[in-house]
Amino acid sequence: MPIATVNPANGETLKTYEPMGEEEVERRLRLAQATFRTYRTTVFADRARWLSKAADLLDEDRQEIGRVMTVEMGKPIKQSRAEAAKCAKAMRWYAERAERLLADEEPAETDVRDSGASRVRVRYRPLGPVLAVMPWNFPLWQVVRFAAPALMAGNVGLLKHASSVPQTALYLEDLFHRAGFAEGCFQTLLVGSAAVDGILRDERVMAATLTGSEPAGRAVATTAGEMIKKTVLELGGSDPYIVMPSADLDRAAEVAVTARVQNTGQSCIAAKRFIVHTDVHDAFAERFVEGMEALKVGDPLQEDTEVGPLASEQGRTDLEELVDDAKRSGAEVLCGGARPDGPGWYYPPTVLTGVTRQMRVHREEAFGPVATLYRAGDLDEALLIANDTPFGLSSNVWTRDTDEVERFAEDLEAGAVYVNGMTASHPAFPFGGVKRSGYGRELSGHGIREFCNITTVWQG
Ligand code: NDP
Repeated sequence: MPIATVNPANGETLKTYEPMGEEEVERRLRLAQATFRTYRTTVFADRARWLSKAADLLDEDRQEIGRVMTVEMGKPIKQSRAEAAKCAKAMRWYAERAERLLADEEPAETDVRDSGASRVRVRYRPLGPVLAVMPWNFPLWQVVRFAAPALMAGNVGLLKHASSVPQTALYLEDLFHRAGFAEGCFQTLLVGSAAVDGILRDERVMAATLTGSEPAGRAVATTAGEMIKKTVLELGGSDPYIVMPSADLDRAAEVAVTARVQNTGQSCIAAKRFIVHTDVHDAFAERFVEGMEALKVGDPLQEDTEVGPLASEQGRTDLEELVDDAKRSGAEVLCGGARPDGPGWYYPPTVLTGVTRQMRVHREEAFGPVATLYRAGDLDEALLIANDTPFGLSSNVWTRDTDEVERFAEDLEAGAVYVNGMTASHPAFPFGGVKRSGYGRELSGHGIREFCNITTVWQG
């Protein structure tokens, strides 16, 4: 895959980049290691100052970088600017709290005495250079949610971004540098995915985080396993969106549309499978389909566009194949379901019903604006359908019944349960999945501690 900016709205190649050669990668790895030796000794106040500065610069650059993201991967422009704002917020969140999140901990006095110690402390120390393999769908956010905590913890970052977003990748390196971080604190490696294995095997790279597809996650986890290196994986999702009879149906249907088509449906935490109690199924379906059909699909640079093109031609082909497979096996198309003519990699908002376990769309991630609608006879059946997936990232439930809330919170196989709302990551809450959605957590105190050497300091 060439490293290039190709506009998904018309397929035009705007800029191509030569991948960095081995020598340049070696220079950057050396710089990362050398920088880490001094950066790890910097105090929280300095790191916080630089990260806050990065947030301010990002706020200033919002228009410009928003446009770059939209041109590189097709996200509607308003959503690009919102993504930049969200990144600035997360940077400030960590800048303000990292010192407290990573403060030394003292175990219970009785346990300290029991161990024969006079004092025991648990200290969070940085690991070193961490490799981040990142996807194109949220080209700033996916990186920042790794970089902000990593830098505050005293680690240094090496970014291998998706080959389709090189300008955003280079912008990020420049942003952290302009903010005051030393040159080697955050570097972009403009390389293709074939170079990742060698970089990960390098002894200077201490750990890796990957957000992306299952095959990419498996490849990185396999090498990291061989090398005994810590990894965090945030892979795909096929989140359920359950609607029970007590739900506010108008609101549930309205939010369902946004939850499915945010980022043109290319989000790991987008709701993808809509599981509706039979008592309210038809009323929900009507409202939901109406909402999907009313969306404004078009040029992502237009302010009022709600759904843009998919980020790549391959992405559209993959999505189309999922829908065609379902159609061939008897699924009914309630709206959308066929690609439009004309330039750009557009695919219309689509709702499928009559989906069976044999259809690929039931088990695979639909990475685009395609929803599947299921009917459930009761709560147990809703849970059964919801958990009948290899994924376990997040989940959404609409109900006003508190007993039902507790059942779902206990029994949904997912890293998050959002009740009467849609999943949205927030710096304060842990983010990550179970099953084949990956492992480890990002954001919150849990996220910043993932890449720390949690050190027991025992004093006799
Ligand atoms: P990939 O998983 O292929 O890309 C994500 C990142 O991983 C990119 O930086 C990519 O580099 C890199 N990568 C790919 N293969 C390897 C490998 N073998 N070893 C190391 N790094 C690798 O995603 P795609 O863009 O191909 O999207 C395919 C599907 O993945 C989507 O349809 C969706 O289902 C899922 N996906 C999920 C995301 C999420 O947020 N969880 C995000 C993106 C995709 P390069 O770009 O150079 O290939």
